[in-house]
Amino acid sequence: MEIVKNSDYRISIEDMGNDGEGIGHIDGLTVFVKDTVIGDVAIVKIIKLKKNIAYGKLVELIKPSEFRVQPVCTISNKCGGCTMQHMDYKKQLEYKWNKVANCLKRIGGIDDPRDIMECPAYGMENPYNYRNKAQFPVGRDKDGNVVIGFYAGRTHSIIDTKTCAIGAKVNDDIIEIVREFIEKYNITTYNEETGNGLFRHILIRVGFATNEIMVCFILNGERIPHCSELIESLANINGMTSISINVNMEKTNRILGDKCITLWGQDYITDYIGDVKYRISPQSFYQVNPAQTKVMYDKALSYADLSGNEVVWDMYCGIGTISLFLAKKAKKVYGVEIVPQAIVDAKNNARINNITNVEFYTGKAEEVVPNIYKLAKDNTNCTTQDASYEAANADVVVVDPPRKGCDAVLLETIVKMNPKRIVYVSCDPATLARDVKILGDSAYTLRKVAVVDNFCHSRHVESVALLVKER
Ligand code: SAH
Repeated sequence: MEIVKNSDYRISIEDMGNDGEGIGHIDGLTVFVKDTVIGDVAIVKIIKLKKNIAYGKLVELIKPSEFRVQPVCTISNKCGGCTMQHMDYKKQLEYKWNKVANCLKRIGGIDDPRDIMECPAYGMENPYNYRNKAQFPVGRDKDGNVVIGFYAGRTHSIIDTKTCAIGAKVNDDIIEIVREFIEKYNITTYNEETGNGLFRHILIRVGFATNEIMVCFILNGERIPHCSELIESLANINGMTSISINVNMEKTNRILGDKCITLWGQDYITDYIGDVKYRISPQSFYQVNPAQTKVMYDKALSYADLSGNEVVWDMYCGIGTISLFLAKKAKKVYGVEIVPQAIVDAKNNARINNITNVEFYTGKAEEVVPNIYKLAKDNTNCTTQDASYEAANADVVVVDPPRKGCDAVLLETIVKMNPKRIVYVSCDPATLARDVKILGDSAYTLRKVAVVDNFCHSRHVESVALLVKER
């Protein structure tokens, strides 16, 4: 059968792809269809045709899958965030678990990953309102009305949003106050094309354990007209702790600029994961789902199997979250992170928790760690107190890299450091699998994997893996 672009075909969705899209076939041709679920039978329009694959658009659902549910959110098919809200949550977990298993098998070369994976994935009992952070773009529609909400998938057009099913409930009240204020005083909003207009984004963070709230206005400027009125309305919200401006005058996709000005209250909020307290400023990286982060860190702690005598290295440590979480059970923890401000936060976090057996290094892990390791090897006089000595004698190495995975030079150095265990925390199963294969070639065997759903309703998934050195 000749398959023609822009024509409609009846397709059964038999599988799910990496981006949470449905996969079906027409005459052996694989077709990826957004907004469909495994088990759907649908009429699909072919919108892009390549040699071996095609992309289709859902035209009509003939027979909905048994795994289809009514999304809680009315704009879920437009907003780029929750691409899987129309799929039963249990099935989402199964999909994510399989995604990790398939990567480990296909890319990682593990024959039977299912045998060592904890089953099922760790999901949430109530997978809504879990996000502690939201960044709402602010703009105007073609009629000049204020729009505050989310970018439509893969675009920069703003979908006006009154509520978000995965965000903190208090966001709705804050957005309403800001919307009314902008309308009342006809305050300008940023136009990405011209680079003019004041309000760019509203960043809201909530400490779920403390109920402390932070609001930060990202402005193309340094002051808000009639600001005291805005502050007064926001300060009335129960839990409001920090109101600030972040200045970003650049024509850029980056949301935050470098300069922050505190308008009211503190310049940070605090939150807890377990009994470790963290101080969070507008610019710090902090995990967005604190409940599931606790599950993930507990898993990392149990895989690290600490007795109190171990030297631990935490690569890609951010604001020291994992380092501090492990420190109470270890002899010493070293953290390495590229962002200098994050290391300032990490050191502060150690101080406010009275944790003294941690040390942090700023720089690229693939540069810092090999340098320290080399020092130890070159200097046979180094003492048991030195980082270089301990680098050469690490018991456990934890890595929590960004999506692109670990740098090859870092992996090489870790192998030389010869830790008994490597705990790999990953937000991308494909790069996890790639690195598991590299470490596997150096006698590190994959022993356990836990899949943790930190980003419910999105296609993303976290996993924690334990690799053990075969002696
Ligand atoms: N473990 C932390 C942060 C994980 S996110 C937590 O759970 O909160 C990954 C971190 O790696 C980010 O903080 C990022 O700034 C940092 N990073 C990215 N590339 C790096 C590199 N080459 N060397 C060290 N850190 C890096």
